[in-house]
Amino acid sequence: MSDLCRRCGACCASFRVDFHPSAGEAQGGCVPEGLYDELNASIARMRGTDDAQPRCRALRGTIGEAVRCVIYDERPEPCREFEAGSDACKRARRRHGLPDSA
Ligand code: SF4
Ligand code: SF4
Repeated sequence: MSDLCRRCGACCASFRVDFHPSAGEAQGGCVPEGLYDELNASIARMRGTDDAQPRCRALRGTIGEAVRCVIYDERPEPCREFEAGSDACKRARRRHGLPDSA
């Protein structure tokens, strides 16, 4: 996790985080049970990421100040693929009133 990300967390409180249920602990994967829901045979979703004001249940801290993901080593694929500095990153930061970069 970059220094910028440690002071941000906006993406974890902006987008739905979906992954295949096989990546969840209930099916032998690594994403811990209790932090996601299996919606159907092909979609699991991190809890909190589909709320009206999304915020992943695995996120701790204050957006834009200091944050951490409590399941960082076990986080699902979309989180691993999300790129700091990407258009989506900038969108998330703007949504939380943060500049495009620090
Ligand atoms: S929105 Fe961008 S800078 Fe902020 S935590 Fe996510 S990837 Fe890092
Ligand atoms: S699992 Fe971790 S990295 Fe992924 S959205 Fe939740 S808090 Fe962010």
